[in-house]
Amino acid sequence: MTLQSISTSSLALEEPPSRRLEHGEIERLAGRFEGRSPQALLAWALERFGRRLVICTSFQADGMVVLDMAWRLDPQVRVITIDTGRLPPETFELIDRVRARYDLEVEIFCPEAAAVEALVRRGGPNLFYDSVDSRLACCRVRKVEPLKRALAGADAWVTGLRRDQSPSRARIRKVELDHVHGGIVKLNPLASWTWGDVWSYVDQHRVPYHKLYGRGYASIGCAPCTRPVRPGETARAGRWWWENGDHKECGLHLPALVPIRGRGTAGRRAGGAS
Ligand code: SF4
Repeated sequence: MTLQSISTSSLALEEPPSRRLEHGEIERLAGRFEGRSPQALLAWALERFGRRLVICTSFQADGMVVLDMAWRLDPQVRVITIDTGRLPPETFELIDRVRARYDLEVEIFCPEAAAVEALVRRGGPNLFYDSVDSRLACCRVRKVEPLKRALAGADAWVTGLRRDQSPSRARIRKVELDHVHGGIVKLNPLASWTWGDVWSYVDQHRVPYHKLYGRGYASIGCAPCTRPVRPGETARAGRWWWENGDHKECGLHLPALVPIRGRGTAGRRAGGAS
């Protein structure tokens, strides 16, 4: 065996080189893609990151739009989701429809069984109703930790976040550096879209959508922590409704370190991703 063949075969066993970006490049890209279409950003990202790019979705309408757009650009695109163990049956039914419609493997990540057991032994199965701290502890075990594992091998992830979903999301950028997940790139291609834009795309492209939208839900997460919204309420009012405040988050989407001037208008109905 020659030296050249030895070095070639050992290289083949190595991980492909990281395509992580520096802060300055993130700034340039955020400016470059701010006024461009979601598809333009996704096309660039698929080219740049390849299999190290993942679409992360909880199968709400925004996430389904991103999934559909990415799949049209690359039918082999990687899709990840978190099965918290408390999702409504309609979400699983939609996952099956997505698998059939797009012929995609959905990479499902679950919480660590031992961590869930310890959590519910200590606080009970519905501990999230007791206090904000208990709720955040549940979200940490069931959502935040599995997402960390899901993103461990990625250089970039894509979300369906929009600026008009809530005050805590009003300043997101289309391209961000995600320091929570080791400095990988976080892409929010729908950041400037309204809820109306999302549903126009869903209607136009016949994108499969969650059945709970037909029962008054506007933002859909775990079953015990989500309720339909009443007329005039914001979408996020249906999430952790027993808590007060506009900044209800589960810890999956913490603010970027470098904010920009935000903008946001409500669509035909308020709606929102996890
Ligand atoms: S949304 Fe509710 S059930 Fe789901 S992880 Fe958070 S607290 Fe737990």
